[in-house]
Amino acid sequence: MDGAALAARIRSELKQDVAELGDVGLATVLVGDDPGSEIYIRLKHKAAGEVGIRAIDKRLPADTSEDDLLELVGELNEDDSVDGILVQTPLPSQIDEARVMLSIEPMKDVDGLHPFNAGQLFFGHQTLVGATPVGIMRLLDEYRIPVEGAHAVVVGRSLIVGRPVAMLLLHANATVTIGHSRTQDLARHTRAADILVAAVGKVGIITAEMVKSGAAVIDVGINRTDDGLHGDVDPGVAEVAGHLTPVPGGVGPMTIACLLENALRAARYRRGALAFPRI
Ligand code: NDP
Repeated sequence: MDGAALAARIRSELKQDVAELGDVGLATVLVGDDPGSEIYIRLKHKAAGEVGIRAIDKRLPADTSEDDLLELVGELNEDDSVDGILVQTPLPSQIDEARVMLSIEPMKDVDGLHPFNAGQLFFGHQTLVGATPVGIMRLLDEYRIPVEGAHAVVVGRSLIVGRPVAMLLLHANATVTIGHSRTQDLARHTRAADILVAAVGKVGIITAEMVKSGAAVIDVGINRTDDGLHGDVDPGVAEVAGHLTPVPGGVGPMTIACLLENALRAARYRRGALAFPRI
């Protein structure tokens, strides 16, 4: 499944929509200097620039206190020129991620991590949903993978990938199993999957013996090793799977394209072009 090609198409449509709306501002906040996070931020800014989204780059040192980060988020919440806010994770250990996510104005929460947006998803409504889970669903749709009635197995239960994608699959009427580090006999579950999503962060943890013949396999993992980038799915799975996303060029570019779509969506909410649900 060619995520790079689909993402390029999404970005070119987005460019027109952004031009029509006028100015869209996306603020990213990076705390510390984790090399992986720096690469993600750079890619996000480059892609934003290409579609005409104004990216605002906020950086804080690794020893930043939680209060100082909350103050910055508060300023971005108040800043009318900022439509979307993304706080790059992981955050340093002195900072409670949940408190930070709670502090982001829900209408600007382009990662869909504020409990309001996460709760909306739980209820079956899509307001702002994380870019990676949305990107995965778009890929399944593009390649006409039947989701309704299918057995989907998601390995990984993070707030940013595993849980929201499981929820989207459930809303699309898949039967969903979620695996994690305490799952016993993971292969027994994965072998039953028509759709297998691997979001673990361990090179090659999904091997060919763990995959049903013809299954659609989505490799979310991005693992940097001395010999380059690797996914969570072992290359041997290509022999068994009906569809497979490559790493790189699969879910990664979809995440970036869908993040930019979320920034546009947030800008539409803020301008009243879309109604943001309010209690
Ligand atoms: P997290 O570390 O937050 O979550 C990993 C999950 O994998 C946890 O739920 C953990 O279980 C589970 N896990 C760990 N070991 C095992 C195991 N042996 N068997 C089964 N499950 C296991 O990671 P993220 O969700 O943030 O990211 C996952 C991967 O996806 C990473 O490689 C990351 O870089 C990549 N990623 C890629 C993106 C893209 O755009 N392509 C976007 C976001 C992430 P438990 O909960 O029990 O600890």
